[in-house]
Amino acid sequence: MPNPTTRRSDGRASVGTFNRLAAGLANAGRSFYARGWVLGTSGNFSAVLGKKPLRLAITATGVDKGLLTAGHFLEIDHTAKVLRGAGKPSAEALLHLTLVRVRGAGAVLHTHSVWSTILSEAFAPSGGLAVADYEMLKGLEGVATHEHREWLPILENSQDMAALAHQIEATLERSPDAHGFLLRRHGLYTWGRDLPEARRHVEILEFLLEVLGRTWRAAGREAPARPAREPGL
Ligand SMILES: [Zn+2]
Repeated sequence: MPNPTTRRSDGRASVGTFNRLAAGLANAGRSFYARGWVLGTSGNFSAVLGKKPLRLAITATGVDKGLLTAGHFLEIDHTAKVLRGAGKPSAEALLHLTLVRVRGAGAVLHTHSVWSTILSEAFAPSGGLAVADYEMLKGLEGVATHEHREWLPILENSQDMAALAHQIEATLERSPDAHGFLLRRHGLYTWGRDLPEARRHVEILEFLLEVLGRTWRAAGREAPARPAREPGL
């Protein structure tokens, strides 16, 4: 028998489930804004409300992330059709749906930080960025030691979300252990099995990107001139 607290007869999540996850996402968003990772209306956040049928709570487009509240979230289905809330979903909703499908993510978080923007341009010729041997890597799910090499793929930015979703899927097939990826001159995508894990991944990856960026700058290094190899290739 369906649980009346989590599922309504029209397939939407219960108001309680929606409000709880929307409030958690709004809280994460305001925290990221305070760190300078989602200034203005940049970035978008989602969490899975239900899997069968798939329902997602996701930011409405055009909302100032410093003012984000639970009221700025929409419930969408697997086609990004709005089932609850006012406004349109983010243009990048298709990317969130793709990550939920191919990674089994329970939450997907996307930031536009200064360092992810700079490094995604500098390392684009390599097709990605390697982060290795930092203690903070242990904050990534499944990583138990600092002796770990995390490969963050970098994809060309695009406004064609269907094409970008296909490229993301193909890229993640080649990097099955990746905890996130960068879009060139755009920002970071990461995810987790639930919202706390995804939020932790944003904090860990943004920290590592800033460390890498500052170190790279301080050393006066040039961006790599030619593509480096991805792991396993
Ligand atoms: Zn974006």
